[in-house]
Amino acid sequence: MLSADVVVIGAGIAGAGVAYELAREARVILLEAEDRPGYHTTGRSAAVYLKGYGNEVIRDLTAASEAFLEQPPEGFATVPLVKPRGALSLVRPDQLERLAPTLERLHRHVPAARRLEPDEILAMVPALRPDYAAAAIFDPGARDMDVDALFQGYLKGFKARGGELLVNAAVREIVGIDAAWQVTAGAHQISAGVVVDAAGAWADRLAETAGLGLLGLVPKRRTALIVTGPAGFDVSGWPLVDDIDEEFYFRPEAGKLFCSPADETPTTPHDVQPEELDIAIAVDRIERAIPLNVRRIEHSWAGLRTFAPDKTPVLGFDPRADGFFWLAGQGGYGIQTAPAMALLASRLVRGEAPPEVLAHLLPALSPNRLVH
Ligand SMILES: Cc1cc2nc3c(=O)[nH]c(=O)nc-3n(C[C@H](O)[C@H](O)[C@H](O)COP(=O)(O)OP(=O)(O)OC[C@H]3O[C@@H](n4cnc5c(N)ncnc54)[C@H](O)[C@@H]3O)c2cc1C
Repeated sequence: MLSADVVVIGAGIAGAGVAYELAREARVILLEAEDRPGYHTTGRSAAVYLKGYGNEVIRDLTAASEAFLEQPPEGFATVPLVKPRGALSLVRPDQLERLAPTLERLHRHVPAARRLEPDEILAMVPALRPDYAAAAIFDPGARDMDVDALFQGYLKGFKARGGELLVNAAVREIVGIDAAWQVTAGAHQISAGVVVDAAGAWADRLAETAGLGLLGLVPKRRTALIVTGPAGFDVSGWPLVDDIDEEFYFRPEAGKLFCSPADETPTTPHDVQPEELDIAIAVDRIERAIPLNVRRIEHSWAGLRTFAPDKTPVLGFDPRADGFFWLAGQGGYGIQTAPAMALLASRLVRGEAPPEVLAHLLPALSPNRLVH
């Protein structure tokens, strides 16, 4: 029987981040079902930091993560965690009515966002079909993230602080006995005062294992593919390009293009694979904007973005069971919000006051809103 102050279940970015923060002062065990951490959604993201993405809660969490991403603690990473990229949201003539309200809403978090006219858009993305966009919104602050450097930084720091990561440790049983949780995972038995549910797409199932009802978290499939860019164009300096209604996006990736149809297909938690139809939809939508001439898809994959019904993450103690803490429902924003989520979660787990800039978010993040 191992014992810890806190058992964190799920070694994706959420679990690794909170384990790193908690291990500063507590004995923490991090459990991962797979044979390596980061195998599921965390290893499959688009690696973009966008301050104007998601609802207001997400935007506040993203903004509050910026300082850590720009300047992580000494020795955390050997490479920058974020690099400038810029993001261009294309607006077709039939979408023009959405430009002004979108830009206005964006200005709270991205004051530098501005409208671009067709000639300015073409200067940034010369391969764009000339009649495709009537205008665009440009966010100069959008950045590429080095997800692996952030993730490995968390894991390395966690271990350096005395934390223990156990892989091949799928949690099968969680039983509350005498104000502690007994967790059975792989070949291990662990006793801890607090369980953190950071199981991504499996978060609701894990709560069921502990005898709690579901919160209604839904994993949604998103597809990604790598293709060669349009012939004769150097894509490496292009911004991230998406569509004002998020019908697709593409961005440079090592001289090629990372593309997605921005699909959100509800499914069950599993090792998700891409569907041919979603790949075809991505190519079709993006080819309307730029001449891809795809002869072969270099690589494709899919990942599960898991959402609560209100598309806001779930962070806080479950009101139905002492010591069961939720850190789930990160949707499509779990990397760019990870530093703020990890810090906030660690403070609450330790029974401390939340950071002042995040305190106003607690009611919106609390699992109480989803318990009926
Ligand atoms: C195509 C795509 C593009 C994306 N782009 C971005 C982006 O640009 N920016 C951004 O911020 N976010 C993006 N995201 C979202 C981001 O990747 C997720 O929000 C984030 O990775 C979720 O992390 P997580 O730790 O909650 O989940 P995961 O990484 O899935 O980790 C959960 C872990 O829990 C483990 N687990 C589950 N059940 C058990 C159990 N019973 N016992 C032990 N372990 C268990 C799983 O094996 C898994 O490793 C994207 C996602 C996709 C799919």
